[in-house]
Amino acid sequence: MSLIEECYNNSLRIQKLEALIGRIPYHHPVWPDVMSDYKCRQAGQRGEKSLYFHLSMLSETKYQIYHGIRLQYRGFFFQMDFLIICTAFALVLETKNRSGQIKFNKNFNQSTCKKNGGEERIQNPVLQAKLQARKLRGWLEDHNIKIPVHYLFVNSNEKTLILSDPGNEQITRHICNSEVLLEKIDQLENYHKIEKLDAKELKKLKRLLLSKHTPENPDILKQFNLSPKDIPTGVKCPTCDFIPMDYHYGNWCCPKCKMKSKIAHIPAINDYFLLIKPSITNAELRAFLHIHSIRVAGKILASLKLPFTGTFRDRIYFSKK
Ligand SMILES: [Zn+2]
Repeated sequence: MSLIEECYNNSLRIQKLEALIGRIPYHHPVWPDVMSDYKCRQAGQRGEKSLYFHLSMLSETKYQIYHGIRLQYRGFFFQMDFLIICTAFALVLETKNRSGQIKFNKNFNQSTCKKNGGEERIQNPVLQAKLQARKLRGWLEDHNIKIPVHYLFVNSNEKTLILSDPGNEQITRHICNSEVLLEKIDQLENYHKIEKLDAKELKKLKRLLLSKHTPENPDILKQFNLSPKDIPTGVKCPTCDFIPMDYHYGNWCCPKCKMKSKIAHIPAINDYFLLIKPSITNAELRAFLHIHSIRVAGKILASLKLPFTGTFRDRIYFSKK
């Protein structure tokens, strides 16, 4: 078993963005926004994955690590990039993968990022980490678990220069680059010598955290003010990306490059589940894949071995995920 509990669902968001990028045309007004969000999330994911290397050095018997756990507190969800727990304390990590130079100003707790000659104000990541820790503290309290909660902002790009005004220790002690992370955890370990939970309670907490974890299922169309009508329907040619391919006696044929495929409908149905909704009927499949025959649509749906409800006529098929 891995030391790190992978709860993160960023990959689902990234899959949805990829499906959207694969269907909307380049000249669509939302294209630049979708691409920039996609690149930003990919960089974030790379940054978080790079922390795995450091975190995997921690003792497996002492620590529990959760990546992307998402809990509900006072009616709202909060998601922690990483949560590290041992019998003596909990530590919330807010991670960013910023390059260039990050500066923390003492006045008004503002932070700025300098890159490629420009400087911009950014959300103070230490305050973000602090807020996450506050929510976790409340959540733990609601479950009668008493354990000190610490927080850190970790920048996963080791080349980034982090600067701060003098006398700003309130903020700077909650900041580190990823190469210093283990050192920081050692310091906490030395500071908290008293165990607040025993091994059994720690195990119980793990079960509770995993049972309360609610993965995010982002509505990607809503995010970009799109409706299902904005998504071009049809099977995409795997060779030249042309939409729609024509169905002809068991084959998908591309009118543009003449490519033939027996399975080109599979990614299209996956796009439907990611972008439109997680279920599909025979009629909806026919409309999306541009096929006329109820029998052919039924055969395609049966071949995918999807879970379903209902009898033959009003059967609804569901995405496997
Ligand atoms: Zn083609």
